[in-house]
Amino acid sequence: MCARCSTRFLLPPVPDVVHPPVPDIGLSNFTLTEEENADPELSPGLFQGDMALTNDFYNYWRVGIKFDAYPDKLWPNGIVPYTISPLYEPSEQVTILKAMKIINFMTCIKLVPWDGKAKDYLLIWPIKYPKGCWSFVGRYGGAQILSLQPPDNKGNNCLGNEGRAIHELMHALGVFHEQSRWDRDKFVKIHTDNIIPQFKGNFDKQSLDNTTYSFEYDYDSIMHYGKFFFSKKKGKPTITPKQPNVKSIGQRKGMSKGDCLKLNDLYGCYKNPGKRRKYYNICNFMGV
Ligand SMILES: [Zn+2]
Repeated sequence: MCARCSTRFLLPPVPDVVHPPVPDIGLSNFTLTEEENADPELSPGLFQGDMALTNDFYNYWRVGIKFDAYPDKLWPNGIVPYTISPLYEPSEQVTILKAMKIINFMTCIKLVPWDGKAKDYLLIWPIKYPKGCWSFVGRYGGAQILSLQPPDNKGNNCLGNEGRAIHELMHALGVFHEQSRWDRDKFVKIHTDNIIPQFKGNFDKQSLDNTTYSFEYDYDSIMHYGKFFFSKKKGKPTITPKQPNVKSIGQRKGMSKGDCLKLNDLYGCYKNPGKRRKYYNICNFMGV
């Protein structure tokens, strides 16, 4: 043992969640299409593709994540300690750090390096099973895994740019997918026949009572599915916009204006009138 080393490298124990609970959706007998195989956000086979839910949390889902009702899911004072696995290459760490810097700049949320003491923190780790990009939703308690699969010979996976890291971080901050909003049927059509049967549940929506969103439906959200997510067959869309002027849905480049406004709202960043203006301006200028 090297006593000095342990003080130089703050390495937390990896909690025993390498096998997060997976809802029983008959994962053993399906095959992903080529397009999905190339998309690490779709491959873990967790709830709605990339969200890890515990049994407890699965029950929460039925009532949605409403911070009024579940204040413990919110990170207190918007402070989110994190540790990044040393298994990532330096360039990969830079991509993850970039994602966090963007959130820190665009919102009043503060992702800060874990001090080794805080009880709850994000552990950003390249989990092997289920591999892919996935996260718990909201603060889970204790060391909370957020998995970002590093590049391999098949492609960039979750770290081609900072977009997928932002998507998973937003889940960890408590945001569900945009198309699961209670009012989504006014804006998108779900093509149930084109969805891989085991994944139909990924297109469920929240009930009116559960909504926490006070912003317009956002086709450009980094939390919105793309047209072909979980499609049975190449070229068969699973979700399409109802408004004729909308050409594309979902993106993984950066926070949209709506994502930015929503996060700031969720974490009370507008409470101070001066800050309200600041964050409105940042979201309007910087949002994708
Ligand atoms: Zn997601």
